[in-house]
Amino acid sequence: MFHPLYKNDLVPMLPLSEFQKASINNLINDINDNILILENNHCLCGNNNTEKDIIISEKDRYGIPAQQLICSKCGLIRSQKKFDDQSNIKFYKN
Ligand SMILES: [Zn+2]
Repeated sequence: MFHPLYKNDLVPMLPLSEFQKASINNLINDINDNILILENNHCLCGNNNTEKDIIISEKDRYGIPAQQLICSKCGLIRSQKKFDDQSNIKFYKN
């Protein structure tokens, strides 16, 4: 049985400025309000048996909830979710 190295506790792994904290709050709100849409990020190897993938972290270094997985078939590490195309444009534009 594997357990994630980092639980989703919203605690960042590095010191953040007030601007960064506000930006992260805006990002999480935009995701919760469906302004930014997340979709499943399938492994490049085509593995459809994702329930056996191993969760290595439930957050990123900024404390943003984002599951990181190891593919059970090929070992590639990836984010479980990614922005859809329109959300990706909005994110990097703003
Ligand atoms: Zn894979």
